[in-house]
Amino acid sequence: MKLIKTKAIFLAAGLIALPLSGCSQNAAENSNNDTTLTGNPKENPAAFTFKKDPVTVNAFKLDTFISISAYEDIDESYLYDTLALCDRYEEMFSMHKEGGALYNLNEGTTDKVPSELGRVMETALKWSQSSDGAFQISVGRVTELWDFTSGSHVIPSDNEIKSALKTVDDTKISLSPSDSEEGAAYTVSMPEGTKIDLGAVAKGYIADKLKEDLISRGITSAVINLGGNVLCVGDKNGDPFNIGIRKPFAGDTDMITVLKLKDCSAVSSGISERYFEENGRIYHHIINPRTGYPYENELWQSTVITKDSLTGDILSTLCYALGTDKALELAKNTPDTEVILVKDDLSLVTSDGANDLMK
Ligand code: ADP
Ligand code: MG
Repeated sequence: MKLIKTKAIFLAAGLIALPLSGCSQNAAENSNNDTTLTGNPKENPAAFTFKKDPVTVNAFKLDTFISISAYEDIDESYLYDTLALCDRYEEMFSMHKEGGALYNLNEGTTDKVPSELGRVMETALKWSQSSDGAFQISVGRVTELWDFTSGSHVIPSDNEIKSALKTVDDTKISLSPSDSEEGAAYTVSMPEGTKIDLGAVAKGYIADKLKEDLISRGITSAVINLGGNVLCVGDKNGDPFNIGIRKPFAGDTDMITVLKLKDCSAVSSGISERYFEENGRIYHHIINPRTGYPYENELWQSTVITKDSLTGDILSTLCYALGTDKALELAKNTPDTEVILVKDDLSLVTSDGANDLMK
């Protein structure tokens, strides 16, 4: 069995921190066209405080490499509290954090969840309903069998998969407001044995919360990158940020295209970050909930550009799962949503508005 690892952190001299690694770290800030300050600082005080080189903090959290780069005149320690929010949310949203809110729900030790977890589940279930079964957060028992987070890659037996699939059905999950117990805002009803996996959802929500936190602390120009889940705060002194989309199965710095983005999110999902190869077949972490096996389609990667990152995270996985035609249709029918698909011959297929972002 060949195990492929693509994780590394990369900081290049003369470039903005370019952390091109992580679990689905396909999008990253690309600094080749760095902003140059123009104008008279006296007439434009905002430009005066704008920093050409960002203050960046990097960490390994949420099982991936993350970074926050702020184009502000601050000490990096100013970003530590924002960074620390990741730990709080990981505790809430992780399937694997013993004692955390989702863990306890999955273990059946409680049917109550805090309001943030409940709301995120409701949003995911809404998209699940319109996905015709392609995207289901109840896929947890199956993803647990494949266990892509541990790195010990084993192909589960057909029987194990069949048995786990019996617990996968998002239509059987319902949430209702809870009036009991402090902090427990929702009561969740789901069939015994079902496990919820928010791996395709949580990083987007967390990026949104980090952005909120930065803004509340006066930071108006920044890029948050949670393992390829990129969220731009504002712009770079009036110019867009350059967000590189990584070429699947290529070197860490190999970009397939660069997006010019202001104040929005770009999230990539695909098969080239968490996968292993056996007998010439690639087994990756986006699972078809109808079969219990990784999707086999013509796509290697899908990147979705949206305003908020929660939607972006859900849709990047969903668009991958839907395949080219349905993903394009979804982008067409969803306001403020563009998609960039990389096919298995490295050709790009994009929604109508995406071309304008790739200049
Ligand atoms: P990443 O985890 O690299 O950010 P994604 O956002 O695409 O990548 O999410 C993939 C993760 O979503 C998987 O690791 C698993 O936890 C979960 N998942 C896998 N298949 C599905 C599916 N069909 N529907 C919903 N979630 C899924
Ligand atoms: Mg996702």
